Amino acid sequence: MPIDLAAALPRLLPKAVSWAQLQSQAALERGRPLSPDEQADAQAAGVQRPHRVRVAVVDAIPRPDDEELRAAAEQAGLLGPDTVGLALGYAIVLRSDFAGSSALLKHELQHVRQFECYGSIEAFLSVYLHQVVQFGYADAPLERQARDGGHDGAPRCETSATDR
Ligand SMILES: [Zn+2]
Repeated sequence: MPIDLAAALPRLLPKAVSWAQLQSQAALERGRPLSPDEQADAQAAGVQRPHRVRVAVVDAIPRPDDEELRAAAEQAGLLGPDTVGLALGYAIVLRSDFAGSSALLKHELQHVRQFECYGSIEAFLSVYLHQVVQFGYADAPLERQARDGGHDGAPRCETSATDR
C-alpha cells in the first residue's frame, strides 16, 4: 500500500534530516576534494565555497535503515535502485558506475549551491521534501532548477513550496 507522503512528511522530515546529516558527515570524511576543473564547474554553478565540497564514490547509494523512511524515499523517487547520485550539504555521493559523469557532478553541484542558499541541510530539506511531496520529484521546483543548470537567473532560494 502506498504511503500518504503528505500526511507522513511531518513525522518523516526529522528522520530524513538526521539521516542526511549522518550520511553527509560520513561522505565529507572519506570523500575527495574537487579537482581544479571541478572547482571551476562548481564556481560556474554558483557554489560559494567549492573547496569545502567532497565527493565520495560508493558501490551503492546509501538508503535509510528506518523502514518507513526508506519506503517513503523510494516511493517519492528520491532514493531507489536507480539513484546514481546524491548531494547532502557539501557532500556529493556518486555511484561508482556514474563517478565519471561530469553531467551528474554538475547536477549535484547545483544542489550544493541550493544547500548553501538555505544554509543548512535541515533548512534545505524542509523546503525540498515539501516540494517533492507536492509536485513530485521530477517537477519539484528545486529539482527543475538543478536540471536547468541554474540558467534561470542569479542564484536564489525558493522560499516556499508553492513558488513556481
Ligand atoms: Zn537533483
